[in-house]
Amino acid sequence: MTGRPVPPTPTALARLRDAPAGRHSAVARGVAEPGGPLVPLEVPRRAALPDDVVIDIDYCGLCHSDVHAARGEWGQRQLPLVPGHEIVGRVAAVGHGVRDFRVGDRIGVGCLVDSCRDCDACRGGEQQFCANGAVGTYGATDRRTGEYTQGGYSSTIVVNRGYVLRVPESLDPAAAAPLLCAGITTYSPLRHFGVAPGDAVGVVGLGGLGHMAVKIAKAMGATVTVFTTSEGKRGAARGLGADRVVVSRDEAAMGEVAESLHLILDTVAAPHELGPYFSALRRDGTLVQLGLPAEPMPPVDPRLLLRRRIRYTGSIIGGIPETQEMLDFCAEHGVVSDVEIVDADSLNEAWDRMVAGDVKYRFVLDNATLRASGPGEPTLANTPEDQS
Ligand SMILES: [Zn+2]
Ligand SMILES: [Zn+2]
Repeated sequence: MTGRPVPPTPTALARLRDAPAGRHSAVARGVAEPGGPLVPLEVPRRAALPDDVVIDIDYCGLCHSDVHAARGEWGQRQLPLVPGHEIVGRVAAVGHGVRDFRVGDRIGVGCLVDSCRDCDACRGGEQQFCANGAVGTYGATDRRTGEYTQGGYSSTIVVNRGYVLRVPESLDPAAAAPLLCAGITTYSPLRHFGVAPGDAVGVVGLGGLGHMAVKIAKAMGATVTVFTTSEGKRGAARGLGADRVVVSRDEAAMGEVAESLHLILDTVAAPHELGPYFSALRRDGTLVQLGLPAEPMPPVDPRLLLRRRIRYTGSIIGGIPETQEMLDFCAEHGVVSDVEIVDADSLNEAWDRMVAGDVKYRFVLDNATLRASGPGEPTLANTPEDQS
């Protein structure tokens, strides 16, 4: 699904021309009550501020974080909540101060729609570490506009131009959507820890994050070992490009990879023993935690770290410049996510299947289906009025 330019269709262009630069309502799916399903909603979108881009959304990836946030598993959020932070669409309108994006441009939005722009992290282009709290694409209060942010399971979104990414036209737009979260989450630590051709990289877990880690590490020229608990995933891992697959319960197989890897990306979001992975690292090797278990992890035995100066660290998405670099890298190397496209009425089922691990490897919402149908009349989300 790569290398195929997808120009806007005549209907899409007509829709873009009709798209409002003023305040409008977006058609969306979101969670309206605690524990409730995704239901049709309308959410207000602000009139374009001078440095805003109005985006007509074509596709939005379904991320595990969407479920955790909307179901209150990472703390209660204000409802209704429209999730979605793997957004690909086209520019429908721009504020009068925007010179570098034009109507019709293929663009994307990831996990962040704003940050303080003034702290060390923001000045260094690492907005994900904003000392004053970056503004999430959904479920956050935008300090500039006062709005409660609503995400990409939606027909449109309005985002400050500094947080809008260019998505190369050569990438399939649906398969590129997961790059905005799963892609950058794995690209960033591979780059930060300097993975070079010939390096030996391990990937623990083969879900949405893991499959992107394999593809991107291979594109960087690394030799990739996948660790999985499931013998059944051996073929799939090979199919994605893995050079070696180790079933982590197989102690003999784990012994064969001892002290062989430079870097391991751990994408597993359930508590698990880290000792076997520390043992698989060479001197000065690094284990990067990307999965975020809700329960505490088993204790780490420091002796395993001391013996070969092993580092144990974590990483979360990436900054705006690095996200653009990742998109350009993926276009150059023809890397996209393996996706299953779903319509709006299948979102609840897709969430259940995602939680059950029944997807290869990412669901992506076809946002055109938001406008087409939906059970029941949309209700207006009671988002606080913006200050404009
Ligand atoms: Zn995500
Ligand atoms: Zn900041």
